[in-house]
Amino acid sequence: MKVVSLDLKRQYESIRAEIDKAVLDVVANQSFILGPFVESFEQDITKFCLVKHAIGVSSGTDAILLALMACGIKDGDEVITTPFTFFATAGSIARLGAVPVFVDIDPSTYNIDVNKISIAVNRKTKAILPVHLYGQCADMDVILEIANANGLKVIEDAAQAIGATYKGKNAGTIGNIGCFSFYPSKNLGGYGDGGLITTNDDKLAEFIKLLRVHGAKPKYYHSYVGINARLDAVQAAILSVKLKYLSEWSESRRMIASYYNEYLKNLPVKMPDTASYNTHIFHQYVIATPHRDKLMEYLKQQGIETVIYYPLPLHLQKCFEYLGYKKGDLPESEKAANETLALPIFPEITRKEQDYVIEYIKKFFSSL
Ligand SMILES: *Cc1c(COP(=O)(O)O)cnc(C)c1O
Repeated sequence: MKVVSLDLKRQYESIRAEIDKAVLDVVANQSFILGPFVESFEQDITKFCLVKHAIGVSSGTDAILLALMACGIKDGDEVITTPFTFFATAGSIARLGAVPVFVDIDPSTYNIDVNKISIAVNRKTKAILPVHLYGQCADMDVILEIANANGLKVIEDAAQAIGATYKGKNAGTIGNIGCFSFYPSKNLGGYGDGGLITTNDDKLAEFIKLLRVHGAKPKYYHSYVGINARLDAVQAAILSVKLKYLSEWSESRRMIASYYNEYLKNLPVKMPDTASYNTHIFHQYVIATPHRDKLMEYLKQQGIETVIYYPLPLHLQKCFEYLGYKKGDLPESEKAANETLALPIFPEITRKEQDYVIEYIKKFFSSL
């Protein structure tokens, strides 16, 4: 038997007629850049996330870049973030000439350890950029408290957390700005690149919309140097269809996760933890074991695909050597990079496939 980590074809088959019609509608309309399909999707998101403004952009990476630009982050500014995330989080900070300041993670959620943020704050600090990793939120109240006490902006990297909640509030609507990605493998994935920014701040929303179109208003009159970071109409039309099913899909993911929880709990592996204040959307289901590499290889031989997110924490990446971090500086992130493994999880995975994964994980540990 073969079990893949993600099979997007099954999802497409389940909504094929609607998706095909949505794409053809855009083609028939010939309105490809921003316009009615993007605006309509942005409206849908404001209702789904209960937020005042939603601004479709070209990718999750550009969402983070624009959010930082809108907060005035520039050369020499420091932005506090986590080293255990996808590269874009810190890459966007560095691209503006600002300095990513890495704070270690809390091993129970793999999110930034909020108890270690304050000691990283200094006169150069301008913002905190927490990531809601794997689909559950960082401890936002503590982050907001530190931000308010020090006059910092809070930008949420909610690329993996659309529809997740923190104390009842939606991911991406709690800080000053929220950033989302519609990369095809995300819980709400497009058929190409795409992203989105959320905010409840009218001024920031207006500024971000300006920066999205090269800082021009009206067209050809530029008061700022922005970028081209627009969401495609084809993506927006597809995402509008898929958004209708997102809550249902998130519920399926939670059920799949609780099935894994139930049948893997007695093994010598670290299980995923959901913080009491969170509802998790299980973008990934991640276990941890010191035998990770051997387990991964064993499962591969049985036809089971697993993935390591992320094998090298950002403070140890070659491109960030100039920041001066060394091995051992952020031990929880380094441990997570060495021991975590994401198991197959997607709404359409079958019970049979899950049983197969569970069976071979059990066999691996009984043979140790
Ligand atoms: C996917 C992702 C991004 C980047 O999104 P893209 O749309 O691929 O540019 C940023 N941060 C995190 C945590 C992500 O998972």
